[in-house]
Parts: sequence; C-alpha cells; structure tokens
Amino acid sequence: MNYSERTEKLFNNQVEKWELANTNYKQLENVKTRSIIFDGFNLLIQFNPGRITSSAAKVDTKSIQARPCFLCERNRPEQQKGLAFAPGMTILVNPFPIFKKHLTIVADSHTNQRIAGNFNTMLKLAKALPEYQIFYNGPQCGASAPDHFHFQAGNKGFLPIEEDFTDGKLCRLNSSREDIELWQWTGYQRGVVTLKGSNKNKLVSAFEKFCKRFAATQSDRPEPMLNILASFSSDEWIIHIFPRKLHRPSQFFADDNSKILLSPASVDMGGVVITPREEDFLKIRKKDLVDICSQISLNNNELLPLLIDLL
Ligand SMILES: [Zn+2]
Repeated sequence: MNYSERTEKLFNNQVEKWELANTNYKQLENVKTRSIIFDGFNLLIQFNPGRITSSAAKVDTKSIQARPCFLCERNRPEQQKGLAFAPGMTILVNPFPIFKKHLTIVADSHTNQRIAGNFNTMLKLAKALPEYQIFYNGPQCGASAPDHFHFQAGNKGFLPIEEDFTDGKLCRLNSSREDIELWQWTGYQRGVVTLKGSNKNKLVSAFEKFCKRFAATQSDRPEPMLNILASFSSDEWIIHIFPRKLHRPSQFFADDNSKILLSPASVDMGGVVITPREEDFLKIRKKDLVDICSQISLNNNELLPLLIDLL
C-alpha cells in the first residue's frame, strides 16, 4: 500500500475506534459556516468551538516550557496511532479537526518548528498524499506547538484559494523559467506568493531565496513569519506562501465588545476563517477582515520587491 492508502486506513480506524476523534469528526458535520463576499473571491467563516485551545493557545516561551509537549510520543493519548513517514516523521489523525480529514505530521524528536531544511520534506509529503493540502505554520504565526516540528494536512476541495488560483481572476504570472512559475496576486486582501512547477530542486531553491530575502526584514525573529500551503497534482506542486508581519491582530487582545478571537494561520490565509466563539462568528464583518488582513499580512508594496529576479 502507498502512503495515501495507508493514511486512509489509519484515518478510518482512528475515527471509528478513538472516541475523541469519533466525537469531534461527527461534530464537524454540524459546524456552522457562512460566506463573506469580496470583489473576486469569498472568505468562508467557520464557527468551530473545538479549535479554542489552538486559537487561544499561549505560545510564549515561558508557557511552552511549562506544559508537557502534546506532540511528543510519550505524551500523546494511548489511542492515537501513527504511521511512520520517512525521514523521522509520523502521520497522525488530528482529533480537533477543521477539515473532514485533518492530519498532523510530527517529527519523531522534540525539535523546534523551523522550515529551514524542511521544505523539501513538505514537498515530499504533498506528493505522497495528493488528496491533501499540506500546511506549515511558523513558530510565531500559528503553530500551537512552536517547540515541536510539525506540518498539518487537510483534504483538498475545502480551502477557497484552490479554486481562486485555478480561475485566476486575481493572480497573474510574475515570471517563469523552464519548469517553474512565480505568480503574484492583486486585490486578494492578503499578501501571497505562489510557486508552481514540477522540479522539486528548483522549487526548494526559489523558496529558500525568498526566505532569505524576507528574513532580512525580520532579523529579530527565529525565522521569517510564514504560513505555507503545498499540494501536488498532475505532476506539479502548487505552493502558496503567506509572509506575515504580525501573528494576532489587535482585535484578539481587545477586552471590550470589539474583541474578535481570531488567531490567523494557514487555513485562515487559505480562505477559511476560524472563529472558535459564536459571538465572533455572528458579528465579524467584511471591514473587520480587511482590517485584520492589513495588520497581519504584507501588501504588494512590501511584497513585490521581494520577488524581483527570484527565479
Ligand atoms: Zn515535543
């Protein structure tokens, strides 16, 4: 059996036999969603109370050091089974899903969340699991375990960015070179760079070059703030990179009724905005999202200079 088939088997087994997963995947069927319509694209708002732990997670060094790491094998629930993925990683079913099929792929050792040296593995995963979007949240922009290296994966056909890229209304080719393309977006509210191609080495080197340039603008951080989505189909990878300038928007910290508990990461950047509190789900408006996006992501004046001669 290939990874896809083995993962499918693991998923079905876990949802059937592990009570926590069983309950939470069933509950996901009743999760409420609504659309907010922008010019040329939609954002989907998902009311998902099961995500409160992740969205409100304290990710400062002190809090992280004080808790047992929930991704280390010795601390994982006994019922949670894994599937080895070379090199040194294990595929797990995420018991707090956003997607109908939601995985966490964790390093076997307790090492910091860093994309440097690991982007190649992300592309391998995308190819091994072509039914999934693989995603990465940087240690300071969405990872609730910044001290334990991991990716997540969610079934394709859910994040609006997939279709937004296919229909191509808001993106255009910035540059291309043989088997690699660089795409830029306009009017999408959030800054995003898209790489597409069949040559893994070229994708890795374009990504690394971009990271190096972006890192120079955030030299006080352990790595430049990034959310990344990667998928594979028809012998090509599609990679959406969301450079970030802030983790949580001001609304997250408000203590009056302007508070919106939103902690944006890859899924939100991909177009599904997760609100763990019902009041936020009901009250969030287009203008809030425009404001939040402008706080947390790069605009084209900041982003496009990073793309010059990237390929
Ligand atoms: Zn750990």
